[in-house]
Amino acid sequence: MKKKKSPPSGLSRRLHFPDDEKRLPWLPLLLDAYAIADTGVAVAIREQEKRRNKKLACAKGCGACCIHQTDLPLYPHEIVGIYWYASEKISGPQREQLKKRLAEAGTTPGCPFLIDNSCIIHPLRPKGCRQFNVFSAPCAAGEDPYFTRRDDVLQPDQEYLNRAFAAVLPFYNLRRKGDLSGPIQAVRAQIMNLLSYDWSKLATLMAKSG
Ligand code: SF4
Ligand code: SF4
Repeated sequence: MKKKKSPPSGLSRRLHFPDDEKRLPWLPLLLDAYAIADTGVAVAIREQEKRRNKKLACAKGCGACCIHQTDLPLYPHEIVGIYWYASEKISGPQREQLKKRLAEAGTTPGCPFLIDNSCIIHPLRPKGCRQFNVFSAPCAAGEDPYFTRRDDVLQPDQEYLNRAFAAVLPFYNLRRKGDLSGPIQAVRAQIMNLLSYDWSKLATLMAKSG
């Protein structure tokens, strides 16, 4: 019998927002999903570093992908998380910067959430951003490694990916019982694009709420 992969402990820590999680029933699902996704990314990196004999090139402060990568997936449950985090958790000068970036989204290059070379919604960034990792050497300015060196791009662990989708099925009023392949596919089919998504409503919401 095939041994089932279990997540190694201590690889990925689930974030907790106890008061918000009591108030917002979808939030624990989303945080569970991101912890599963992060664990899957850590497992895939470890396995592929060994198999490819290459080291991960991504590091803190390396955000070129957030500027030039145009093909980052986004799902409805992730948008809700971003709306919540941006409107309720970001304050002060960063909030003002984000409002400005969102109002300009689509007219300036890069992801509107990249501020001062760092992701302002990092705890709630979409799964696609978490999975985008590159081996060997950091991306050059403007380089899309999918085209220049696909062998250096991390291949996501599909088992963890599906488990992360399964965690948010109740968000879509889908049951987490029996064969989940259909419901997971239904969620996957709702894929959108992070950069082409219209963030102007979030900008308006943030402007109204201060
Ligand atoms: S994907 Fe490329 S640009 Fe993004 S963090 Fe990794 S090495 Fe840096
Ligand atoms: S959401 Fe964050 S991690 Fe994703 S592209 Fe934008 S700035 Fe980068």
